[in-house]
Amino acid sequence: MGLETYQKMRDFRRTPEPRGRVAKTQRRRFIVQEHHASMLHFDFRLEMGGVLKSWSVRKGPSLDPSVKRLAVETEDHPVEYLKFEGHIPEGEYGAGEHMIWDEGTYRLLSKEDPLEQLAAGRMKFELKGRKLRGEWSLVRFAGRERQWLLIKSDGEYAAPGWELELRQPAGDAKTVRNEKKKTASARRAVKRTRGAKKQAGKAVPAGRAFAAKELAGDVDVKVGPHVVPLTSLDRVYWPDEGLTKGDLVRYYYEVSDFILPYLKDRPLIMKRYPAGIKGESFHQHDVNAAPEFVRTAALTVEDGGGHEVDYIVGDNLAMLLYMANLGAIERHPWHSRVRRLDRPDWFVFDLDPGPGVEFTTICALALAVREVLGRVGLESYPKTSGSRGIHVYVPVKPESDYDEVAEAAARVAAVVARENAEVATVERALKQRRRGQIYVDHMQNARGKSVVAPYSVRPRPGASVSAPLEWSEVARKRITPQSFTITNMLRRIDKKGDLFKPVLAGGQSLRGALNKIRELSGESPAGAKARRAKV
Ligand code: MN
Repeated sequence: MGLETYQKMRDFRRTPEPRGRVAKTQRRRFIVQEHHASMLHFDFRLEMGGVLKSWSVRKGPSLDPSVKRLAVETEDHPVEYLKFEGHIPEGEYGAGEHMIWDEGTYRLLSKEDPLEQLAAGRMKFELKGRKLRGEWSLVRFAGRERQWLLIKSDGEYAAPGWELELRQPAGDAKTVRNEKKKTASARRAVKRTRGAKKQAGKAVPAGRAFAAKELAGDVDVKVGPHVVPLTSLDRVYWPDEGLTKGDLVRYYYEVSDFILPYLKDRPLIMKRYPAGIKGESFHQHDVNAAPEFVRTAALTVEDGGGHEVDYIVGDNLAMLLYMANLGAIERHPWHSRVRRLDRPDWFVFDLDPGPGVEFTTICALALAVREVLGRVGLESYPKTSGSRGIHVYVPVKPESDYDEVAEAAARVAAVVARENAEVATVERALKQRRRGQIYVDHMQNARGKSVVAPYSVRPRPGASVSAPLEWSEVARKRITPQSFTITNMLRRIDKKGDLFKPVLAGGQSLRGALNKIRELSGESPAGAKARRAKV
């Protein structure tokens, strides 16, 4: 319990929300806030343990006992939030109008500590608000960490057929308007618009919006049957280059045919840069408020204490634009797809230079990785990381599990380091590395880890892109990771096509190669046999 998550997700120089602190008082107040964010929802909060335990209730609470509302647990909020009303600016987390819908106090209906009741997944309480009164319960779904039902009990104040009234007319709220538009615009021809500026109630076909020279302000774009709201497109994301959020969104639109195959069906790790590359950033695994065109999958966070959250799953253009609009600059797919989550279909060596390493040295080392893989019969494919190094991909059939793949990667990396000891190391700790040594990083191949996708933008100066390469380009050593950016990548694709295509072409079997790798890295065939027998 605490406010770290809450505070990390917000930039208090930009949002009027209170920073707050954990309160020492123990009062039993509750609040329901009407939140016209990218998707209209209600926030239900109960004060306990010095904070507000919080749930996002898409349709709001209902006094009708037959109506059970899904309530998704969100981060603890400070008690100062009990008084918060206001406008969260575009680009900030939860951007939109935020107002108090109901407030009051509550009473527990059991003597047990409320936090223990929540831990057990069931709590009964009485609300004494202006609109919400009487007995209620929160019940957690079995096996789900954060999904609850908020239910009005029968008895006093129960009101069958009750309907919630918004404080702010839904017509004034962006989300609700979008929903209407979705159905309306599918039937009605949209009038021609000159620029890509938002016209009241009109969604612009994506092709037309992105053909406009300048992307500014807010624009709702039509992508197939979906409407994706794009906001604050003139916000500067790369101050040194004067590149904007609009430039980022446009790049993803233009490169979508090439990048989407590498994201398709894979959970995506999302890091948001709502204020551009020099502003604050934060990881957002959970996307409980995603629009309906965004596919999600409930997965256990590998490094987050084992709780389950909804990941975005790579799918279509609407999803790609939606993520860009959230300020997610990079695309970070898992190495496996949702249908076979435990079977990666590629693994990656990340050649990550320390300070003072020439890029030509990295190129030479990448060629060495390729050569070692070639000895065990595996083809590999290089791309710039878009940052400082090179990624070497090895496509494999999704038949070996993460442990086998990690073992293969570790052994190959060890051979490369052994044979190139002057420049390469598998020593992870920076202190243990010699200056000028390149770390052959094979550690990104575990379940839940990711490497930036081909064609993904990086949050680096120059708006560089992770660019697939020809081995001959690596051998000539004239390129650098800064050579390819959101302004020239499309021209390169026009010329070269998708150089990474073989990575998706079905893969190679690691089963046979793994024994050869074990022999190569020093394990005798007898040792390998003994290992197999043990397994
Ligand atoms: Mn909210």
